[in-house]
Amino acid sequence: MLGMSERPSGFMASEANPGKTVLVVEDEQSIRDMLEFNLDRAGYSVRLTGSGSEARAAIADRYPDVILMDWMLPDVSGLELTRQLKRDANSREIPIIMLTARVSEDDRVAGLDGGADDYITKPFSARELQSRIRAVLRRFGHHAEEVLTVDDLSIDRLAHRVTSAGNPVNLGPTEYRLLEFFMTHAERVYSRAQLLDRVWGGNVYVEERTVDVHIRRLRKALVSSNHDRYIQTVRGAGYRFSTRGA
Ligand code: CA
Repeated sequence: MLGMSERPSGFMASEANPGKTVLVVEDEQSIRDMLEFNLDRAGYSVRLTGSGSEARAAIADRYPDVILMDWMLPDVSGLELTRQLKRDANSREIPIIMLTARVSEDDRVAGLDGGADDYITKPFSARELQSRIRAVLRRFGHHAEEVLTVDDLSIDRLAHRVTSAGNPVNLGPTEYRLLEFFMTHAERVYSRAQLLDRVWGGNVYVEERTVDVHIRRLRKALVSSNHDRYIQTVRGAGYRFSTRGA
């Protein structure tokens, strides 16, 4: 069972989660400690919160890649918070795994119907935890690949290098994050507000037209290889990365 002495066996820190953030919503200190210990060892960046209001603030501050949600919280039930997050366009794409001591089929069904993407019954092992997290990340299209390639445009997410037909493309840090976001979320339109949330982080107070400035820079960096056509403006809606025609 999950404990301080247990290592996440067979799982190297750098294997598949560079920079992935796990938001823990759990009010019980011993379980928070265990989760922090094991997730940290597995290479995740961990944020600990103990209530619904803390969780909301943490999500606004930095968009997590996955949420581990306790069922019983002091201010709101984890189930209700899950429902709320899944109704909100700004958070509905975050996979949520419920942590629950409840084992009845009715409770599992209620959790999944409420929008949870998976659940883990306490007590659980570190291995099961890792495997459930990896599974939802895969399902939600969080590409674990270190190198993503679209046609001959490549992004190496460990080295933070972009190449086009083998030639290096120099991008500023924001343009890099934009391109990485687009390449992992292709064929979907994102509004400027959503891009600010996902690429800049929700607590950064910048104007929406800042997005346009960085989109322009990104296109400019990709123009010589003709990959700028992938960064498409969708009038009245926002931007989309697509290899199909605009
Ligand atoms: Ca609790």
